[in-house]
Amino acid sequence: MPTFKTLDDLDDLTGKVALVRVDLNLPMHDGSVTDATRVEASAPTILELADKGAKVLLLAHFGRPRGQRSSVLSVSMTLDAVQAVLGREVMFIPEVQGPVVEQSIGILRPGDIGMLENTRFWPGEEANDMAFARGIAAHGDIYVNDAFSAAHRAHASTEALAHLLPAYAGRAMEAELKALDAALGTPKAPVAAVVGGAKVSTKLAVLENLVGRVQHLIIGGGMANTFLAARGVDVGKSLCEHDLAETVNRIMDQADHAGCTVHLPYDVVVATEFAANPASLRTCNVHEVGADEMILDVGPQAVEALADVLKTCRTLVWNGPMGAFEIEPFDTATVALARTAAALTQDGSLVSVAGGGDTVAALNHAGVASDFTYVSTAGGAFLEWMEGRELPSVVALQA
Ligand code: ADP
Ligand code: MG
Repeated sequence: MPTFKTLDDLDDLTGKVALVRVDLNLPMHDGSVTDATRVEASAPTILELADKGAKVLLLAHFGRPRGQRSSVLSVSMTLDAVQAVLGREVMFIPEVQGPVVEQSIGILRPGDIGMLENTRFWPGEEANDMAFARGIAAHGDIYVNDAFSAAHRAHASTEALAHLLPAYAGRAMEAELKALDAALGTPKAPVAAVVGGAKVSTKLAVLENLVGRVQHLIIGGGMANTFLAARGVDVGKSLCEHDLAETVNRIMDQADHAGCTVHLPYDVVVATEFAANPASLRTCNVHEVGADEMILDVGPQAVEALADVLKTCRTLVWNGPMGAFEIEPFDTATVALARTAAALTQDGSLVSVAGGGDTVAALNHAGVASDFTYVSTAGGAFLEWMEGRELPSVVALQA
């Protein structure tokens, strides 16, 4: 496990200023926040620091203002939601450095919480500019990063600050890093990876990283069609990237050399139109797909075999649904496999970590998200981690 400092390394912070990078890039509709999950994730960190006596200053980006002030992209749009989740008053401070910040800190008492303006109003944020970061760091005594979802970006508030102040992982960051390490860093073998979703092209780097790290690579979703087609299977009208046949065959070779078994479906659920419970719905062997049919889900026999594979594994990492789960009954394989993984996790035989926008939605749909060991809501950062890349803000925390 890579080492980084956590809130456990902090004692009394009375009178100290904690600069806390959080994720306030919340989904909005008509000017109000529609989902405050990201705030809920960081609430324990914020409250723990406040309860230790710190003056807590939240730092975050909001949207893409591209280095300019924009009234509609003020992070204060999230203020009501943040106060509601924390159950505390939060003082909005319309700058990230300078006299206004200094005066505001003077007004805050130990344990109070402030929210600095959208870091991306200043070009120095995305440029990871040291001078800009120094201007922010000047107001703080410690830096806490609790925004794993922004960890793949080397920006002033996610990377440079960690070099300028004593730096700590917040509780959400700590949980995420521990879960990811348990899944792919130092996992218990055998390890299975489920990779599904629409396209191979968006997850090439993920597949290439995984074949060298896992013993079982389970391919589902639209990308299974590309694998099947590369093996000479006629996939009819299925979503398929025929031009990637060579790439897929190279990945299969890499898997072979690394001793990784690639599992492709041998039965599938097909239909001639993409609609709920269509009349044309049928289950067939992959070699029996009609010219006018689309593969929209993995078949029941394959799901049963895959469940047996999971039963032999100690660790599972999952990204991408097995089928077009948004429309019934093409959610069947995803739901069944997710429930198997959840049950094995609850039995204590499997460590299960999942991530990805649609994957999280699919696990919620299956009603098992809370039965997995860990579900990451950090889209881009989670995928980059699955690609085996170092995340700049995590590296900075370890420095
Ligand atoms: P994530 O967001 O979890 O990384 P992706 O965005 O890669 O996942 O993929 C999710 C999408 O893949 C879903 O919209 C789903 O409908 C689609 N999909 C899965 N299987 C198929 C299939 N057989 N044919 C067409 N689309 C599919
Ligand atoms: Mg997606």
